[in-house]
Amino acid sequence: MTELRRDPAAILEELRALRDADAPTHGGHILSYVYDSGVAELDALAADAARLVQPVNGLDPTTFTSVAALESAVVGFARDAFNGDDEVVGSVTSGGTESCLLAVKSARDAWRAARAGTPRTPRLVAPVTVHAAFQKAAAYFGLALDLVPVDPATGSAPVAAIEERLGDDVALVVVSAPSYPFATMDPVADVAAVTFPRGIWLHVDACIGGFALAFGPEHPGAAPWDFRVPGVTTLSADLHKYGYAPKGVSVLLTRGRDRQRRQYFATTRWPGYPVVNPTMTGSKPAGPLAAAWAIIQALGADGFAELAARAALAADALRETVEGIEGLRVVGEPAGPLLAVATDETLAPDRRVDPHHWADAARALGWHLQLQPGLTQDGADPLPRTTHLTITPVTADVLGELRPALRAAADEVRGVPAADGRMLLAELAGGPEGAAALATSASGLDSDGAALLLASFGLLGGASALPDRMAPVLALVEALPPELSERLLVELLARVVEPPARGGSR
Ligand SMILES: *Cc1c(COP(=O)(O)O)cnc(C)c1O
Repeated sequence: MTELRRDPAAILEELRALRDADAPTHGGHILSYVYDSGVAELDALAADAARLVQPVNGLDPTTFTSVAALESAVVGFARDAFNGDDEVVGSVTSGGTESCLLAVKSARDAWRAARAGTPRTPRLVAPVTVHAAFQKAAAYFGLALDLVPVDPATGSAPVAAIEERLGDDVALVVVSAPSYPFATMDPVADVAAVTFPRGIWLHVDACIGGFALAFGPEHPGAAPWDFRVPGVTTLSADLHKYGYAPKGVSVLLTRGRDRQRRQYFATTRWPGYPVVNPTMTGSKPAGPLAAAWAIIQALGADGFAELAARAALAADALRETVEGIEGLRVVGEPAGPLLAVATDETLAPDRRVDPHHWADAARALGWHLQLQPGLTQDGADPLPRTTHLTITPVTADVLGELRPALRAAADEVRGVPAADGRMLLAELAGGPEGAAALATSASGLDSDGAALLLASFGLLGGASALPDRMAPVLALVEALPPELSERLLVELLARVVEPPARGGSR
């Protein structure tokens, strides 16, 4: 018998203390990352369901038959939600990124199979607002990424611009329903009308908005964006977003069994057990799947609709709030319970509100909004810096505090000029020459050099990992060449999880 060396109660006490330092996951104070249904029973049910299957290995649904039953039910629920027929099949994955990666892998493999032996590089075409998971997929799976500029006013790309880029090397076109950065609904049916006749796969990324839109209030005249549209070949939707499940569960649906089989990896060519994996992992937890399944059972379509209506109501209220704040504006026509907020540039500078200063001021009042950098586009107007709000059912419960806080935060920073990344950079680098030298330094930077640079920016080595004002950090991200900001952010995140140095206090 192995005895425990530490009291479990003390261990959990330590964990609780760590958790207390986290951003609040419940109660609606964080408007990104977490999706709070506001129904405590649902969280308890999800936890119990996950615990029941804790020992199971999701790798093999023939040994652990519960996994097959749960996955079949969850895929069936998603297929109904997105209006798929019997030709639509699917998999449960560990999250939106994995769903997106697999959609790209399948499309690439189908493209290659149809062009046996081609040395050409397949291309992925998508509006520039497509989720970063597709940049990752292109990098992992060796596709050329062809991003189409969007109109800064609407956040959407003209279909003609997408059509122009179609050719025999295009393995996949991706559209969002809606996009994460601007909550824009891409014109799914119009894009399908140009991909379908060419036999090009079309993925609808409904990771964030899928379940909220499918069960949300119908907007009169809203165009179909799911499997009702012929030519949509794959669709991703995250249950750990508006399915209210704990992190680690999403679905990827595919029209046509033969298309979907491209997703699998199988080998009998090793001396171990035959490997057949529909997803990227081998051994995998069944907990998030069981939690999602239990939530679906508990809510049913009606419960999903009720929660989606609450989120939609809160989103409408917040949109109205932002539109009523002098100096701010909502970008485009947001679809689903999310918004992007930018500066109202029609006003004189002293009446404008910088969305990043606004987010910092809101954070000081206890509300976490998400800062998004501005972006230059090839051959098109730049995209504005924005602040993102993901609105959940629980947001409806806190509108009474949130709306005045958003107004107060704007009043506090109205007229304050946006942080100037170039100036900050010159200051940090001791002048414009230093800044120019810095800007070209990414390729020569090793991890110690990157850490030194971060420390000189005040972003590493202090007691707290993150500064309390994020606007200057985002301004730096905008001003630095992406190679350098990416390298520095890698260093920051890697150092955050490094074990403490041996010796000394150990
Ligand atoms: C969240 C999201 C993803 C990626 O999902 P993860 O679950 O974070 O891996 C992909 N696309 C969109 C539109 C998203 O909002």
